[in-house]
Amino acid sequence: MFTVGIDVGSVTTKAVLLNGKDWRYVIRPTGCSPRQAGKEAFEELLGRDGLAQEDISGVIGTGYGRISLPFIDKAVTEITCHARGAHHLLAGADMVIDIGGQDSKVILTDGRGNVINFAMNDKCAAGTGRFLEVIAAALGADVSELAEKARGAEPVQISSMCTVFAESEVISLLAQGVDKGKIIAGIHRSVASRVAAMAERLGQGELIIFTGGVAKNEGVKEFLSRELGRDIIVAPESQLAGALGAALLAREKPVRKER
Ligand code: ADP
Repeated sequence: MFTVGIDVGSVTTKAVLLNGKDWRYVIRPTGCSPRQAGKEAFEELLGRDGLAQEDISGVIGTGYGRISLPFIDKAVTEITCHARGAHHLLAGADMVIDIGGQDSKVILTDGRGNVINFAMNDKCAAGTGRFLEVIAAALGADVSELAEKARGAEPVQISSMCTVFAESEVISLLAQGVDKGKIIAGIHRSVASRVAAMAERLGQGELIIFTGGVAKNEGVKEFLSRELGRDIIVAPESQLAGALGAALLAREKPVRKER
């Protein structure tokens, strides 16, 4: 039985094809058309195995672009999908910290993939992947290089809460000759402390998994762990938690619409 989950995020579109214990995926940039990105990811995923949509028992869409996908059977919120996917990546996880391109969220679960409570920041870029992208651009670096550049550096204090002001602050720190690594470490700590505060307001989890594209950043992970005083687990497929959760949910309850 094949099912598909598609997570159309603000930065990347992720599609997962699930078949028994096996799953495979496609990740591509969302660009300016979530609908097109979702369609292309779906077609690429099916095309690789020579499958047609008739071969798929259910397709669930999630992420901010989910409503723009005409071919899905059902749309489900990211919170529900992330909780389910995270449980698959780390059995027993009871807290999911997700930092994506334009939002961050903390989800408390029952340890079996069901949501108990959550908190979300989707109003402000600070504490999201977008914040890191803006700062990386100001430093002439790519987000994927930030952790390496800051390895072992003592963080400088970044006092601006707002992305635009933080960008100016970084530029002026550079002009004062402050070491880039220390600035980046300060930025990592700033993202981590915002999200950790959200997690603490919600209540602490015992087994915490970090998901979303920002989970690839070791520096943010390190500071999150320090701020929360706990280990945090990142799975290699952490960025796929939402799409994987959607594919799992499509398998657990029939969702197929008559076409
Ligand atoms: P969304 O679901 O909102 O599209 P993602 O969960 O895909 O977002 O996360 C996108 C963010 O992940 C980017 O804004 C960037 O900050 C971060 N990111 C993506 N790839 C990497 C990488 N290789 N290293 C560090 N950070 C990354």
